[in-house]
This record gives sequence, structure tokens and C-alpha cells, in this order.
Amino acid sequence: KKTMRLDKVLSHMGLGTRSEIKKWAKQGIITVNDHVVKDSGLQVHPEEDRIMLGEERVQYREFIYIMMNKPAGVISATEDRNDRTVIDLLEEEDRVFEPFPVGRLDKDTVGLLLLTNDGKLSHELLSPRKHVPKTYFARVLGDVTASDVTAFEAGVTLDDGYQTKPAHLEILEQDRSGEDVISSIQLTIMEGKFHQVKRMFEAVGKKVMHLQRISMGTLTLDDSLQEGHYRELTDEELAGLK
Ligand code: URA
Repeated sequence: KKTMRLDKVLSHMGLGTRSEIKKWAKQGIITVNDHVVKDSGLQVHPEEDRIMLGEERVQYREFIYIMMNKPAGVISATEDRNDRTVIDLLEEEDRVFEPFPVGRLDKDTVGLLLLTNDGKLSHELLSPRKHVPKTYFARVLGDVTASDVTAFEAGVTLDDGYQTKPAHLEILEQDRSGEDVISSIQLTIMEGKFHQVKRMFEAVGKKVMHLQRISMGTLTLDDSLQEGHYRELTDEELAGLK
């Protein structure tokens, strides 16, 4: 089993700086398996040992997996010069794990975003070879028809000449009450080119007005999560992704 320095375990959990932790150890307020530890450099088993900082149990773990309902207006990146990012929406206690978004949603796109610090899982979910399906709900300006369903199934040519892989389009509703027809649709794509959904509709002469991701692989947006809110994945959700 893996060992780690005690001060590294505590600082990684965001509980204090190395020098603060050293001082607390000297003061005798840190125990490991009920023994007072005065040397903050002691090697411990971070996930098995019972580490206490005062009255607080330190539950170390390496990875975090977060489902966020991304709101419009924030960037799905860890840093941005001008705008707020999805990382800014996290509580400090979650940010200490240094999660990053798995793939990108546009600034104006809302819905399911997975954040993790597990690079291996992220890589697997994003690998073009894995064909992880992503399903979107969209409101589209224009009359989405059966011929678009057929075109998306066959693949359409994007503005840069890229031919899309077969995608599944479902027409949910058509609103013909206004001057323009607004179509509500659901689209499942197995790849993730830049602005792919918007560009696929552009290829058939229509414009996406509102875009929401509702699933990624086996992971489905929890509809009790309000936009801008998040929670950790359940064990079942995580097992489904692996
Ligand atoms: N397709 C898009 O056009 N935008 C997104 O944010 C996601 C998929």
C-alpha cells in the first residue's frame, strides 16, 4: 500500500500549509491511529490510517468526480483571462483536488459537465476511439424535418470540410406559433468536434438557439441539480463510466 508524508496528506486536503502543519504536529494535536505524531514528515498510509487533526477526521482520497449543471456565461476551463470559469463555481474544499472539466462546453451551452482530477478517466472518455455518446437537447431556429434526421444519420459536411459520423436526431416538438418555426430536438453524437452540434445544424441551414447537454456515456444530468450547482458522482455513476 502507498505511503505519503503526513504533511503532504494534510496540505493536499487543503487543511493548512506545510509550516502550519509542522507547528500543529509539535503542539501534539495530530494523531495517527490514536498515537500523537509530533513529526509532520512521518510516512503514513493516507487512505487506511485513521488521521485526526484535533477533533476532525482527515479522510484522504486521491480523486474527485463532480457532476455539474453548467450555467451559461462561464467557461469550461480551469483558467480564463476575461471570464469566470466552472472552477470558480466550486467550493474551496473541492478545488483543493484540482479538478478540470472533461471536454468542453461552449460558454453559452448549459448542462452536464464532468469535472475530475483523474486524467486517465478523462482521457478514456475523450478518446475518439471510444465513441462515447453525448446527447444534447436543443432549440433550433427553423423547421427541423425528417430529411435532417436522414442527413445526420448519413453524416453532414461541416464548414471546414469534415464529414460527421452517424448521429441520431429526434424531433421532439415544433413551435409554429410565432413568425419563425422553433424546433425542439434531441441529438446524440459519438464524437466531439469544436462547436459540433451548432455546426451540424448550420450545415443544414438552421441555427441552434439553446443547447443543453443531458448525457455523456452512461452519465445523465441529475435534473434536481440547478444550473450552477454540482455534486459528487455516486459510486454507481462512477462505476458506469469506468
Ligand atoms: N456542440 C456545440 O456546438 N457546442 C457545445 O457546447 C457542445 C457541443
